[in-house]
Amino acid sequence: EKVYVNGEIVSPENAKISVFDRGFLFGDGIYEVMVQLENGVFYKKAHLDRLQDNLKKIGIDYNVEEIDHQLQPLLKASDLTESSCLIYIQVTRGTAPRKHSYPKGIPASVMMYALPYSLPTVNPKHMKAILEPDFRWHRCDIKSISLLGNIMANEAAMSANSDEAALVRDGMISEGSHTNIFFVKNGTVITHPADKHILNGITRMIALKLCNDLDIPVIERPVAENEIEHMDEAFFTGTTTQVASIAQLGDHIFYNNDQVGDITKKLQESFAQLRKKDTAN
Ligand code: PLP
Repeated sequence: EKVYVNGEIVSPENAKISVFDRGFLFGDGIYEVMVQLENGVFYKKAHLDRLQDNLKKIGIDYNVEEIDHQLQPLLKASDLTESSCLIYIQVTRGTAPRKHSYPKGIPASVMMYALPYSLPTVNPKHMKAILEPDFRWHRCDIKSISLLGNIMANEAAMSANSDEAALVRDGMISEGSHTNIFFVKNGTVITHPADKHILNGITRMIALKLCNDLDIPVIERPVAENEIEHMDEAFFTGTTTQVASIAQLGDHIFYNNDQVGDITKKLQESFAQLRKKDTAN
């Protein structure tokens, strides 16, 4: 395993970042996760564009082209050029004496690594999810490395022997701890709009595009907690989750057995087809 850190590719024990890094002190940074599948990095451009947009949102002056240039050397050094793998990228504002305001003129700290990681073409999981209060901030559109709210919700799900936590803000379901959530009602797909209360997932955008291709109507609106029981299907989306059917959400059981709803299944199948295409650009 190798790590790219600030211009160098080194072994993990030699990958070092200062304790005065603003990522460490303030969680002042942005991250990205993408996967390399059979045909290269899945939606690489979409992921790197989102990273660039997010850096801009928080005023970190860094050009993600460098990451794109360093990716192949990293995969090569990690012996993963031809393998399915997961790629983690993190860019923080850099190292400076601790002070809240943004320091001027310091280089961003950049770290990235890849690990072997395989994903089945269709996620076989029948997800069980709990409902948790969404007490995160009001800029969930930023893919911040500060993930306390997300990890606390995910930990609650794990402790409850569940697979994911769906977050509820003001009675409305926003997203999962590390996924977006979709519902299906009378043949229409419903998902939270991409506002400041959710992360606009790349997989979310792919699912919406697939709905469009398949002539499945979509409404972007939040679903209330008390509407769950009236929904026909539900699924989570995410880079590593892909499209995962939800069997149980809170107290509501969608399926007692290994059934998957028709629309969820169609989207899973179409999603699997995308892996055969070159989506990197
Ligand atoms: N929502 C949150 C809070 C996330 O952390 C993630 C992924 O990490 C997602 C949604 C899904 O995003 P993507 O499909 O880009 O992986």
